[in-house]
Amino acid sequence: MGRLDDRVAIITGAGSGMGAETARLFAEEGAQVLVTDMNESKGRAVADELGTKGAFLRVDVSREEDVSNAVSEAVDLWGHLDIMFNNAGFGGARGPIETISESDFDITVDVLLKGVFFGMKHCAPVMKSQKFGSIISTASVAGLQAGESPHLYTAAKAAVIHLTKSVALELGQDGVRVNSICPGVVATPLAHGPISEDRREKFKSRFGRHQPIGRVGVPDDIAQAALFLASDDSTFITGAELVVDGGANAGRPWSRQSELMTGEGPIKLYRPEGR
Ligand code: NAD
Repeated sequence: MGRLDDRVAIITGAGSGMGAETARLFAEEGAQVLVTDMNESKGRAVADELGTKGAFLRVDVSREEDVSNAVSEAVDLWGHLDIMFNNAGFGGARGPIETISESDFDITVDVLLKGVFFGMKHCAPVMKSQKFGSIISTASVAGLQAGESPHLYTAAKAAVIHLTKSVALELGQDGVRVNSICPGVVATPLAHGPISEDRREKFKSRFGRHQPIGRVGVPDDIAQAALFLASDDSTFITGAELVVDGGANAGRPWSRQSELMTGEGPIKLYRPEGR
């Protein structure tokens, strides 16, 4: 028996990375999955892998009509909608604040925040009428701590975390849970770009050294978190952000702090004067 038997899910940005891996895991666990992405060939390839468990629809999450169509399509195909995974994203505008144009701002926020808003808005009526549903959105540790990502990415992801809480407060009484996932560095095309296998391994080992757990994330780490939030294993969890980052957001190790203060190795014993 699968953990998502008889469930219907929509996943945005499911043509690659963590969205694609989540589509595979959800299908393995028994769900019907509407694989959506603005990249048609990649999205279709993932849906094809799922066989009768999957279908594909081209969706640009920054377009309200596309997102609304996805909800209608899932309900037309399978009769209900239990899981909405708002996951599509990209790096957005980069660079110093004074160099970012209004149109770069708009496209970044349209995809990273408005796309999540559209997902929540259009699945809510269906889930409320069923008195059941789980809405999951991919935020980021960048939404919890500034400095690791470009300005607008970090701001939009913080807004996703907060929108999640706000909507969770509204929908809880209707049996609909709303949570976000905050990945750390995960080896996907978004993080390392279109690079060779060899350079990807270098990327993994370079970033891996900076995570307390000693490796970078892989898409399956996020898929497992999404499965937990989608399934009945988390029925008392709503309004939460689940951090999946190998410990990176927990802070800087204290030993590194003392190195920074003294310019030397870790302080072995702090002894107040006179003792
Ligand atoms: P990815 O590039 O492998 O996949 C992202 C997918 O989203 C792609 O298939 C792309 O075509 C699709 N997409 C982009 N814009 C879209 C749009 N407007 N409409 C529909 N689809 C669109 O990247 P990933 O790392 O799997 O990213 C998934 C999510 O995780 C994103 O929201 C990203 O911001 C977030 N995230 C990634 C990392 C990381 O280190 N990889 C860390 C934290 C958060």
